[in-house]
Order: sequence, then structure tokens, then C-alpha cells
Amino acid sequence: TLGLDWALDWLHRAGAVLAEQRMALIELDRVIGDADHGENMERGFTAALAKLEAAPPATPGAALKSVAMTLMSTVGGAAGPLYGTAFLRAATALGDAEELDDAALLAMLTAARDGIVARGKADPGDKTMIDAWTPAVDAAGAAVGQGPAAVLRAAADAAALGAEATEPLVARKGRASYLGERSAGHRDPGAQSTSFILRAAADAAG
Ligand code: ADP
Ligand code: MG
Ligand code: MG
Repeated sequence: TLGLDWALDWLHRAGAVLAEQRMALIELDRVIGDADHGENMERGFTAALAKLEAAPPATPGAALKSVAMTLMSTVGGAAGPLYGTAFLRAATALGDAEELDDAALLAMLTAARDGIVARGKADPGDKTMIDAWTPAVDAAGAAVGQGPAAVLRAAADAAALGAEATEPLVARKGRASYLGERSAGHRDPGAQSTSFILRAAADAAG
């Protein structure tokens, strides 16, 4: 099982990769959006990590809830409320559990995805972060029983493919949808940041 140490390692790795990939996410969002996704995500995770230092959580769920609150108040744009809702629903799914097994991790990922859908109303294929989250949830479900690291690795691998598969899609939600057909041929920035965040979760599980 995975516990608080894993959750904190995940969040630190997520913050590190989002800082490192800030320009790459800005470039993706420059082409089909307003060039702020990398900045939004780096600002949000920097603030979230500072908050975790200042007020250390006692459980994985408490860590995710703290991050949710900070993302909602600092990220702005479309991604702030969407990721904020994802982390909040994920926290609620974990409750006060201290040790997370395969089923708990699947419940966490499912709740995060469902929260984004509830908030943003995107369907699969709309060229949004949902196109990374949904295959990740499906792959995690198929890997239940193989251990937490395998569940998270399956989710991360599927999210990476899902992000890549947004390239030919025409955007039907968010700013990119204003471009209509011209949004095709470019990767969705939010699907790419989701892939980075889920890869960080898998890397933290070893
Ligand atoms: P903004 O578009 O307000 O500048 P960001 O650039 O930070 O916000 O985030 C853009 C990302 O948000 C998109 O790449 C997409 O993945 C995601 N997104 C936008 N609208 C939706 C939605 N309705 N449902 C799910 N994801 C969405
Ligand atoms: Mg943007
Ligand atoms: Mg913006």
C-alpha cells in the first residue's frame, strides 16, 4: 500500500515537473489558447507545496485537500477550478485512510475524473484534459490487483497516450474551441499537464 510519504513525494514531483515543463506547456497553450497554462500550473503547485510545508497534512486525503484549496485560489483560468475540483473529489474519495491499496487508488482517480466532468462538462474526444484522465482511469481499473505501483503506472502510460491522441482532435470545450477546425494538429495543454501529474504519481510509487 501507499501512504502519506507517497502522497507528498507525488505532489513534490508534480511541482518539479510542472516547473521544468513550464515553457513547454506555455508553448502548447500559445498555439490553441492564451499561452498561460504553464504559468498557471507552476504558480499553483508552487503555492500548494508552500502550503503543505506550512501546514503539514496527516493523511494522503488531507494532502490532496490542501492542494485542492490552493489550486482553486491561485491557478485561475479554466484549469484552476478543474484541477481544484479533481483534487478535492480525490481527497473526499480517500477520506481519512492512511494506507491506499489498488482499489483506493482507482477510487481516487475515478473521483478526480468525475469531478472534472461535473465541473467542465467535457465528453471524451472534446480535446481537453478529460482525454488524458479517462483512458488513465480505464487503464487503472484494468490493472487493479497488480499492486499500487502497477495501477499508477498503467494510469500514467494511458494518460501519456491520451495526451498525444488529442493532437488530431478539434476542440469542443475551452478556449481552444474558439479556433474550431484550426485547433486540430496541436496537443491539448491540459491533457499534457495531466500526463505529467499522473507520471509523477507513478514515479513516486517506485
Ligand atoms: P485558460 O484556458 O482559461 O487559459 P488554462 O490555459 O490554464 O486555462 O487551461 C486550459 C486547459 O483547460 C485546456 O488545455 C483543457 O485541457 C482544459 N479545459 C478547458 N475547458 C475545459 C472543460 N470544459 N473541461 C475539461 N477541461 C477543460
Ligand atoms: Mg490558457
Ligand atoms: Mg488563461
